[in-house]
Amino acid sequence: MQPMESSQPSGIVRVVVPRRVWDCYDYAVPTNVPIPAVGTRVRVPLGRSRVTGIVVEHLDQSGFKLKELVKVLDDIPLVSEDVVELGRWLSDYYHHPLGSVFETILPPGARSERTAKTRPEQVWALVDSNANPKIRANAHKQREAWDTLVAHGQVRESQLKHLGIQLSALAKFESKGLVTRRDFEPQFTKSKESLVPTQEQQTAIEAISAKLGEAETFLLDGVTGSGKTEVYLQVIATVLRQGQQALVLVPEIAITPQMTRRFEERFGKVAVLHSMVPNARRFDTWAQISTGQLSVVIGTRSAIFVPFANLGVIVVDEEHDSSYKQGDSLRYSARDTAVFRANRLSIPCVLGSATPSLESINNARNGRYRRLRLSHRPGMAELPTFHVQDIRNTPSIGGLSEPSLHRIREHVERDEQVLILINRRGYATQYFCQSCGWVAMCANCDVKLTWHSFPDSFLSCHMCGQRYQAVQECPDCGKADIVKLGVGTQQIEQTLAGKFPDVKLFRIDRDSVSTNRRLETQFRQLQETHDGILIGTQMLAKGHHFPNVTLVVVIAADNGFLATDFRGPERTAQLIVQVAGRAGRASKRGEVWIQSFDPDNPDLNALVETGYDGFVETELKIRKDARLPPFGYMAVVLAEGKDAGNAESFCNEVLAELRKTELTVLGPASAPIQRVESQFRFQGVIIATHRSELHAGLKTVERMRPRSSLVRWSIDVDPADLS
Ligand code: ADP
Ligand code: ZN
Ligand code: ZN
Repeated sequence: MQPMESSQPSGIVRVVVPRRVWDCYDYAVPTNVPIPAVGTRVRVPLGRSRVTGIVVEHLDQSGFKLKELVKVLDDIPLVSEDVVELGRWLSDYYHHPLGSVFETILPPGARSERTAKTRPEQVWALVDSNANPKIRANAHKQREAWDTLVAHGQVRESQLKHLGIQLSALAKFESKGLVTRRDFEPQFTKSKESLVPTQEQQTAIEAISAKLGEAETFLLDGVTGSGKTEVYLQVIATVLRQGQQALVLVPEIAITPQMTRRFEERFGKVAVLHSMVPNARRFDTWAQISTGQLSVVIGTRSAIFVPFANLGVIVVDEEHDSSYKQGDSLRYSARDTAVFRANRLSIPCVLGSATPSLESINNARNGRYRRLRLSHRPGMAELPTFHVQDIRNTPSIGGLSEPSLHRIREHVERDEQVLILINRRGYATQYFCQSCGWVAMCANCDVKLTWHSFPDSFLSCHMCGQRYQAVQECPDCGKADIVKLGVGTQQIEQTLAGKFPDVKLFRIDRDSVSTNRRLETQFRQLQETHDGILIGTQMLAKGHHFPNVTLVVVIAADNGFLATDFRGPERTAQLIVQVAGRAGRASKRGEVWIQSFDPDNPDLNALVETGYDGFVETELKIRKDARLPPFGYMAVVLAEGKDAGNAESFCNEVLAELRKTELTVLGPASAPIQRVESQFRFQGVIIATHRSELHAGLKTVERMRPRSSLVRWSIDVDPADLS
């Protein structure tokens, strides 16, 4: 069918196309086609091709002759009206093209012409269980189907295959009036009993439940193991009883399968959405949530865009986690988006964490969020004690100090587990010539190469992934005087293998566990064995608990506290507290030893002496004095290009525009990592006292275009990391 110029359309729709465009396009709806609802996918002509778009608005009149839309793809909208509105807000707030926002919002399968399976699941039930239909003796399949039906009373579409019932057999019974069919409606069945809440949990559950149907954001600030999940579960149970749905965002599903399991045990069927779910399934799951067939959804960042028929609560677990912020294209924060969406829907949003972000703590202080505390663990478990170890004048033995090794030996000899946190993988972080000062660098990035020692020896760029052969002689001066500096997980593993030949060692980092399945197996083994030493990166900080760990040794945390990025100390403190919280869950109390070259660091001391709360006090003061978030509002303008001059001059142009406003504009300067994948990077940092100023300023530059098509640029509002 050729799109035609229509003279008498039945209506006009405004359509957004998931591409990097700011504007929408209007189309006429042909007279014989019902006007598609907002959020419906449609095929429309664009230039010479046809594309899939989303209806975002109905219009009465247009001054122009419009092209007709070609096809309406779905019977029901794939995007809910509130998500269409969310898309507009995201475009405004993050100063990002509307079309590209929808590129991010839509599940990958949605850009095709495929129609989602949204028909509700069918249930067949016997009309009369005593009926005795005539079935031919050789119609074995029918006989089987009938007997199974009688045994079960009713069967669901999803069970047919499993039960060996053919659809044709059911159709036959239906035509004879022996069975009836209806749409499946999810029933809220409590399969596993709730725990009896502690007093603090009870207070939290009641506070949140009292606000169902209202726009209120809660900060559930509960130490690791204090039972935040139980609070979510009981609030959600109430939401489901009211016939509504629940969304739970988690930082990473694949490495926290226990969370999903606990929800399934409590609620039966739970929809799980993350990037490993195949596109087609993700697409269908979306559709089923939008028709209300699925009630509980657990998902990572992008699950915040799922359309719900009747959403009752949004939970953001580990709200401080940086994986909620997308690092490219639409640089949105799923946590902040969750708060916005819940507010618009007039439903509560629950942000949970043992180490809340400074933003959320500040929001709780100024009354925008309501803070609920869980200050202790149910039962006996006690939080670990913290200590700093000054290693300035102590020799390092493969990354570990003598006192650390001594302490490790004590715990190992008591048959307790030890956990070593070192947030750098590989063996050594620098490959360095002692004669001339040459350091191995990536050819494409301004990044020092990390040396990996096994299974084979190579150098690797942790920014772009490029591998290099490890030379024995310096390429600059030719001498064989190369040393390896800076400790990584592999070096610690090797050191410990030498010192404790009889102890089992488990190394957990992206190199040791390349697939999620392997990771899960590793974690399971770890929890089953009660001895050994765990060495790992931040992967150890998430989800899993190691009850027999009584000692945590933190190595090389100074880098984090002294990082140029203003969020460095916050992230480091969160990491240490989270890892520490995985330890000593059982009756044994844990201890945490932090090796430090900078034992007088105020943030570190505050953390050790007064815990996370004390750290937050200290750090908030530092931020306030520097007008940094959450006391100032920040955005980063980043321009990248193969040609450094072009990138820098465009960055300059944008910043010059911004300098015409009230905003504080710093830069342009080379980004902390000047070159990534052969692209030179220049950035400007924008700081405002009021949020509205920041947005007004950015609005004036958001549509600027570099003269060179080889320069790419972005605006990052509320940046999470400044590298
Ligand atoms: P968090 O999410 O705060 O880290 P979890 O929800 O994982 O904590 O709870 C930690 C442990 O405490 C879990 O094993 C959980 O089953 C248990 N737990 C939570 N609440 C209670 C309770 N009210 N009574 C007994 N055990 C509880
Ligand atoms: Zn050299
Ligand atoms: Zn590189």
